[in-house]
Amino acid sequence: MAVSGSFKSFTDSLPLQDERMPLLFIGHGSPMNGIEDNEFSNRWKQMGTEIPVPKAVLVISAHWLTRGTHITAMPEPKTIHDFGGFPQALYEVDYPAPGDPQLAFETKQLITKTDVGLDHDWGLDHGTWTVVRHMYPQAQVPVVQLSIDYHKPANYHYELASELSALRRKGVLIIGSGNMVHNLRMVDWTKVNEPDFGYDWAVEMNEVFKTKILNQDHPGLINYDSIGTAARYAIPTPDHYYPLLYILGLQEKDEHAEFFNDKAIMGSLTMTSVKINKD
Ligand code: ZN
Repeated sequence: MAVSGSFKSFTDSLPLQDERMPLLFIGHGSPMNGIEDNEFSNRWKQMGTEIPVPKAVLVISAHWLTRGTHITAMPEPKTIHDFGGFPQALYEVDYPAPGDPQLAFETKQLITKTDVGLDHDWGLDHGTWTVVRHMYPQAQVPVVQLSIDYHKPANYHYELASELSALRRKGVLIIGSGNMVHNLRMVDWTKVNEPDFGYDWAVEMNEVFKTKILNQDHPGLINYDSIGTAARYAIPTPDHYYPLLYILGLQEKDEHAEFFNDKAIMGSLTMTSVKINKD
């Protein structure tokens, strides 16, 4: 890979580390997880303390779908309340983490697959802040978002992700935020307070996804629409699935996956999350 002059300057500001930062795919679920203390958000909090404190966080969120690929490049990203019908307290959340214009520029330089746009309008959507505010409650770690070009196929996202690999050795934590099984039309709202409820196909797909991830069957995960009927229920649209492909696209040969928040909820969603690490 060619190392550009500007990347060298980023190298100077963030010294090369022996260790790669782990990779995380987070099942973010309901926006309410952003203000609730529950088993899912408590695990995110714990994750923030058990991995090295990153120099910056780069999030690929299911909630930023664009034409072309863009990266937030403003110094002070706003908190976006991109949902409807929730309690006022959720709209009042401000997560004041700084942006990182230099990291945005260096990431743009790293990616050769497309011309990444430097964005000054977006901010932190709920796919990002509902999770990251639990991990880094003091908002001291800069956060940038990379958008998902929703006009491109699954393998495009997987391949683009691999170009981000150098960032991990500079202490950047890369998070994909979505949900592996995500069918909002089939959510059983009567089961909101009943933990661990998944339709048969959702539970089946949760196991299929985990097995393929453990076996590093990335081609099978990229070609998810050939898995069968259960996969079509699990992924009616790929917005919440593509963030997983970014994390898998960054996995290196000597790394393995482990799971947390491994649960189906409300019938047609899973919170199942993945940490990829060498140890
Ligand atoms: Zn979502």
